[in-house]
Amino acid sequence: MFELLTEKFSSVIDKLRKAKKIDEKTLDEALKDIRTALLEADVNVDVVKKFIADIKQKVLGQELIKGLSAGETVIKLIYDETINILGGEEPPTLAKPDKPPAIIMLVGLQGTGKTTTAGKLAKYLKSKGYRVGVASTDVRRPAAAKQLCTLAQSIDVPCFVDEQEKDALKLTEKVIEDAKKQGFSYIILDTAGRLHIDQELMEELKQIKEKVKPAEVLYVADAMQGQEAITTAEEFHKAVGLTGVILTKLDGDAKGGIALSVRQVLGIPIKFVGTGEKIEDLDLFYPDRIAQRILGLGDIQTLIEKMQAAIDEDKAKQMAEKVMNAEFTLEDLREQIRMIRNLGPMEQILKMIPGIGSQLKNIKVDEKQFIKIEAIINSMTPEERMKPHIINGSRKRRIAKGSGTTILDVNKVLKQYEEMKKMMKKMKKMTKSGGFPFRLP
Ligand code: GDP
Repeated sequence: MFELLTEKFSSVIDKLRKAKKIDEKTLDEALKDIRTALLEADVNVDVVKKFIADIKQKVLGQELIKGLSAGETVIKLIYDETINILGGEEPPTLAKPDKPPAIIMLVGLQGTGKTTTAGKLAKYLKSKGYRVGVASTDVRRPAAAKQLCTLAQSIDVPCFVDEQEKDALKLTEKVIEDAKKQGFSYIILDTAGRLHIDQELMEELKQIKEKVKPAEVLYVADAMQGQEAITTAEEFHKAVGLTGVILTKLDGDAKGGIALSVRQVLGIPIKFVGTGEKIEDLDLFYPDRIAQRILGLGDIQTLIEKMQAAIDEDKAKQMAEKVMNAEFTLEDLREQIRMIRNLGPMEQILKMIPGIGSQLKNIKVDEKQFIKIEAIINSMTPEERMKPHIINGSRKRRIAKGSGTTILDVNKVLKQYEEMKKMMKKMKKMTKSGGFPFRLP
């Protein structure tokens, strides 16, 4: 799965990471290697052109991303663009059965894995707690209908077929009517395929679609067929109108060209991928995960962590400045608590204050206490957070009620805050005179 691209992209990424600076020549070389890799992986030519042009335009108009080197910034932009051509950040969705049954019609050529996928999809939806049925409208190959029912039986899902009926439209009407009586959330409709596209098949599919008004029409594409599958999908899309693609046999495809072409060429998402012959070998298609696989998961995670660290460091610096200037308000205290609960960069902040870092090793963080303090500060008005001295008896009562705590708790937070401020003032004096006075436990 994507081995070819992963190998080529890894070498480009390696070069970018090691580059001392990124000038136009370095960028052009990297983009040329990516272009070759994509074309070798059988990605549609127009998609490749757009991909390269978009990256170049973004790199030229982009400042360095905080926390990343020039090479890493380019890698991040390549990663973003890869997600983009794979379909964007959003995870795939399947139409909800708002007016059950939602009918999912599977279309495609013979041998692409339609019937197997119908079974896989039934198992997937059943595992999500839906009542699912499967039905076949294939009047030409009774064996296909039998294959579907055998699969359905293996996962204990009802199967609707009628081997006697030889008219596809009448058959569709009948099996769907039978299935509807059973109160399913989803019905998966496996349609007939041919070895090649023909007008009769397209007409049949159009009529079936008109009759059953499916919630989804999914084109089942064999990844191993490369660009040919995209051309065929375009024909189906023009004739029937597709809502998405299921890409099968991705396990046997080292190139992955279709996965990178579908969204741009057809304008519809890939919703699932088949990754093996077994009935459980079906995965939702997550563009970001696929992009990570292509670019190297470890590499991307490191980038994202670096960017996050840069953001945290910025915040920590601002906070340390406030501490040093003793401007620390209850708003800041709340922000602090949020940061601690998210990632725990309190140590980072304290490390930036001269003399304190090494003394804090044994401090324990009590999660429940933080939740309580945050709730109390949340119940204050912005004015109270900036000027705590205005918090009188009736305000304390209101804050305690709003935060589900007691006046005693509110007093405690205010006292702790005052002590922190006092300590900060002392620290400011001491750091100015060069020493640090406290012995922490
Ligand atoms: P249909 O004619 O489109 O209904 O295709 P079938 O469902 O009969 O599948 C054709 C062949 O492809 C069968 O041997 C399946 O086991 C195989 N197949 C389907 N999906 C996958 C997949 O995701 N990976 C692999 N390796 N084989 C698959």
